[in-house]
Amino acid sequence: MLHKKVRLDRLTENEKVLTPTYGTREMNESVPKYEMPESEMLPKTAYNIIHDELMLDGNSRLNLATFVTTWMEPEARQLMSETFDKNMIDKDEYPQTAEMEMRCVNMLSRLYHSPEDGEGCGCSTIGSSEAAMLGGMALKWKWRERMKAKGKPTDKPNMVMGIDVHVCWDKFCKYWDVEPRFVPMEGNRYVMNDKEAVKLIDENTIGVVTIFGTTFTGQYEPIKEINDALDNLNRKTGWEVPIHVDGASGAFVAPFIQPDIEWDFRLKWVKSINASGHKYGLVYPGVGWVIWRDWAELPDDLIFKVNYLGGEMPTFALNFSRPGNQIVAQYYNFLRLGKTGYRRIIQSAHDTALYLSEKIAKMEPFELLTDGSDIPVLAFKIKDKTNFSVFDISEMVRDRGWLIPAYTLPANKEDTAVLRIVVKEGFSRDMADLLIGDLKRILKHFADQPGHKPKETKKKGKFIKHC
Ligand SMILES: *Cc1c(COP(=O)(O)O)cnc(C)c1O
Repeated sequence: MLHKKVRLDRLTENEKVLTPTYGTREMNESVPKYEMPESEMLPKTAYNIIHDELMLDGNSRLNLATFVTTWMEPEARQLMSETFDKNMIDKDEYPQTAEMEMRCVNMLSRLYHSPEDGEGCGCSTIGSSEAAMLGGMALKWKWRERMKAKGKPTDKPNMVMGIDVHVCWDKFCKYWDVEPRFVPMEGNRYVMNDKEAVKLIDENTIGVVTIFGTTFTGQYEPIKEINDALDNLNRKTGWEVPIHVDGASGAFVAPFIQPDIEWDFRLKWVKSINASGHKYGLVYPGVGWVIWRDWAELPDDLIFKVNYLGGEMPTFALNFSRPGNQIVAQYYNFLRLGKTGYRRIIQSAHDTALYLSEKIAKMEPFELLTDGSDIPVLAFKIKDKTNFSVFDISEMVRDRGWLIPAYTLPANKEDTAVLRIVVKEGFSRDMADLLIGDLKRILKHFADQPGHKPKETKKKGKFIKHC
């Protein structure tokens, strides 16, 4: 997040300081909030001040807004705290952490069916956003190589995707100077489809980004259809437009519970995939992965070599120093859970999502957009005009500690406002029942107030990407 320097000349004396919570017992002077204190304090005092302030943060277990892991086993926590000091980039010092990263890349490559006789490769990142930047750069550089080889201009690259993409793809296009071409939503279609995608592709398309589990509705895009349409188009034109799959959520869901969906390297034009280890990979933030079908998809130009145990280690990353402990935790999960463990956990989240969506579908004012049958995420709206809106509901459930975001959809469905629930490990069926009870109470509350005016979305006009 971007932050501004606070203007001290506009604050009262009280606003500038942390007032001593523990009074004379531990702290007898107030400390400045916006400049570094001159003197020290006892570790315990500092701990208490910060610990107490953080109580005002939401309870992460009631946070149904985030996709990111909010619970790990005590053994994983222990391993993570034992490895806080390991810097991922320091492969000389921590060769075993690097080895674990390599094993994770191998496991994921195989999970995503990279050809056994090929040179699949990949790396860890801080999350899917960094992974998207790396995937996108590889697409852009490869496209430029293809165009140069044909003696064609390389000044107008574009990328084709659904308007349902995560903000990281808007960022990619802006930061790397690529024209984004969006397939809008239409009618009951909240994702991109093959027919609309093909219309936007031309020789300057560096790639098509398909979302495997959108943040708006949790749906999978029809990647196989898009791959087949692209195969036709590429054959007809001699282009080689590839697909990158943004599997931030779905790449840790489908392999375990929907193994028959073809979305990965089984499809010819899928050249790279990103996944968030800290979403359904079940690790605390931040770890992500980007996996390429083959080393040949990575332009040499983007790879830097660092010295490693006397040898050279190729790296492709936006960051340099980075905590190694999330990688350790990812490896812990792979080793501890195996495919069976992941299947059990994801299946149970999936079952809870379906259970919850069935109950919500039965509640009069609501209508489901999605029921959680792709990734365990459901989105619903209010059917007819009433005296309350999804924004009212979002605010009211917050009083009980639940975080459920309400937002309007992007083009061309700006008139539709939805609530979204992300079911994760740690959200039990009992909690689902508690939530349903709270929703019923809220509906009754509004039924008792016929004069209530529905709250509108805060910002009109400008579409704000949510995540
Ligand atoms: C969460 C998400 C991202 C961004 O992932 P981070 O790991 O938070 O950086 C990108 N794309 C999709 C589809 C997502 O759900």
